[in-house]
Amino acid sequence: MAIERTLSIIKPDATRRNLTGRINARFEEAGLRIIAQKRVWLTLGQAQTFYGVHRARPFFAELTAFMASAPVVVQVLEGEGAIAKNRDVMGATNPANAAPGTIRKDFALSVGENSVHGSDGPETAADEIAFFFSGLELVG
Ligand code: ATP
Ligand code: MG
Repeated sequence: MAIERTLSIIKPDATRRNLTGRINARFEEAGLRIIAQKRVWLTLGQAQTFYGVHRARPFFAELTAFMASAPVVVQVLEGEGAIAKNRDVMGATNPANAAPGTIRKDFALSVGENSVHGSDGPETAADEIAFFFSGLELVG
C-alpha cells in the first residue's frame, strides 16, 4: 500500500482534558508518523469554512461552535494507507458505536464532542492539509 498523508485534528473536548499526548501515542503506536503539528484556536468563520461540506446538516451550527470553543491541535499523519488507518484508530463517529481500543471509544464524550477528526479520502486529505499547512511545514 502507498504512503499517504492525512489531516488530523485533536478537537476541543480533548485539548480541554489535556489528552493531546495520549491521543498522539495512539497514532504513533499504529505506525502513523506526525510530520507536522500545531495548536490553533479556530475562529467561527474558519470552522465554518473547514466543515463547509456539512453546511446543510442539522448539526452544523453545533459542530462549528464547538470547533471554535477552545484550541485544537491540527496535524499531518503519514504512513502506509494513512487515511484509512487513521480512521480505524479513531473509531466510529459516535463513540457508542466505536470499537474497543479506538480513540473515540476510549476518549470521546458524545457524537459531537468526539475528540478527533480525520480526512475521509485522498482528495479531502490534500484539501484539508493545504487548509492548515504550507508545503514548507511538511517535513516527512
Ligand atoms: P470527522 O469529519 O470529524 O472526522 P466523521 O467523518 O467520523 O468525523 P462526519 O459525518 O464527517 O463524521 O461528521 C463530522 C463531525 O460532525 C463529526 O465528527 C461530529 O463531530 C459531528 N457530528 C456528526 N454527526 C453528528 C450528530 N448527529 N450530532 C452532532 N454532531 C455530529
Ligand atoms: Mg468527516
